[in-house]
Amino acid sequence: MKDKKYIGAHVSASGGVENAPVNAHEIGAKAFALFTKNQKQWFSKALTEENINGFKENCEKYGYTAEHIMPHDSYLINLGNPVPENLKKSRSAFLDEMKRCEQLGINLLNFHPGAHLKQITEDECLDKIAESINMALDKTKGVVAVIENTAGQGSNVGYKFEHLAHIIDKVEDKSRIGVCLDTCHTYSAGYDIKTEDGYKKTFQDFEKIVGFNYLKGIHLNDTKKEFASRVDRHDSIGKGLLGEEVFKRLMNDSRFDHMPIILETPDDSLWEEEIKSLYGMIGV
Ligand SMILES: [Zn+2]
Ligand SMILES: [Zn+2]
Repeated sequence: MKDKKYIGAHVSASGGVENAPVNAHEIGAKAFALFTKNQKQWFSKALTEENINGFKENCEKYGYTAEHIMPHDSYLINLGNPVPENLKKSRSAFLDEMKRCEQLGINLLNFHPGAHLKQITEDECLDKIAESINMALDKTKGVVAVIENTAGQGSNVGYKFEHLAHIIDKVEDKSRIGVCLDTCHTYSAGYDIKTEDGYKKTFQDFEKIVGFNYLKGIHLNDTKKEFASRVDRHDSIGKGLLGEEVFKRLMNDSRFDHMPIILETPDDSLWEEEIKSLYGMIGV
């Protein structure tokens, strides 16, 4: 059972993407996330041969394969932006991120769907996002666009499973669309995964509305904010309002086998310990 869970963290790629697998290895991660460019800037230098070869070599050296690496795109990108000029900017930045994944031999790109900025309806925003994804998939090969569920903070869409299903429904190539569930966002959005019954119901609903066949990864975070708060504030595992039980359940749930399970918890000095303790929950 332990060898079916691929637990890791969103590690630093500072100094070059080739450093990410090294940083992941150092904390005992079996999967990892990274930014392939500066996440706070619109434009970054292109990846060099040295970055690309170094990344591939280090992944091979430490045993990371493409299905366990799930980069996150820039926080600036809003694929549902109602303002045409800004939407265009987001779409071209997203395409650049997809191309970086292609260059690095990565199969997954995780992103927050987008926000309507109170200028269009949720449905219109979801349509725009699907259109944005179709455009990026058209111009790339192999990389799966992985939509993350959100806490629903501000005008963000993606806080209901129905939103994820809406986008998937309108994406043409179903083989290249997937979802990532964030435990903090799920709870903050109003899915009570903390209790045993709530956990059962949430994932039954997920199977019915989206389908586990689309689930490509997990973000494993505790939360500082109360149930259904619609506020996105991560906490370290077991230290927030979710507590440890839900993570134990998840670690022993085969529906989450073979996919990257990524910590985005705030204290990176705890990651090694968190990973160890999560592996320790398996089979107990
Ligand atoms: Zn997340
Ligand atoms: Zn978050």
